Amino acid sequence: MNCTNCGAGLKPVGNRPYFRCPYCETFHFPQELADGVALVGGSVPRACPVCADPLAHAAIDGHAVEYCATCRGFLAANATFNQIVQLKRARNGGVQPPALPFDRDELKRRLKCPSCTKSMDTHPYHAGGNAVIDTCHRCRVVWLDAGEITVLGNYTAPRPTAPLYVPPLSSIYTGLH
Ligand SMILES: [Zn+2]
Ligand SMILES: [Zn+2]
Ligand SMILES: [Zn+2]
Repeated sequence: MNCTNCGAGLKPVGNRPYFRCPYCETFHFPQELADGVALVGGSVPRACPVCADPLAHAAIDGHAVEYCATCRGFLAANATFNQIVQLKRARNGGVQPPALPFDRDELKRRLKCPSCTKSMDTHPYHAGGNAVIDTCHRCRVVWLDAGEITVLGNYTAPRPTAPLYVPPLSSIYTGLH
């Protein structure tokens, strides 16, 4: 697949179903993302930390977020983000295929917080699912790139493995006397 803007070969973005041109940085979304973002309309006084376009009011499952229509990422308050993840996980019924591992290079990206403009912390989401998220502990917000909320929402906890066989004490001590 080639960039419709400059013709260069496109590079997939992490473990998610879209591409970004390595030369002109245009995003390409060949299929609809299942993030469930609904635009509410009206821009907010903050810019996207990835592509610098203005963020707009939007909602995911009725929870308010700030969305970038260009790169399709969004900014959410920590509490809102947690609610969205829990809701999506509750709804998926634990039958999703496991997500591919994230690209380790995603850990090297540094974003500036759209609220306070200081550096955000970039780290894997701590509660399962293969996504690297960017958080600002000062503003208590999180940035998710397009498709990441779907990867996190589809996460299914691994089934508990069978308990280790522990031989009865009597058999362990047999032979010591
Ligand atoms: Zn291009
Ligand atoms: Zn953007
Ligand atoms: Zn901040």
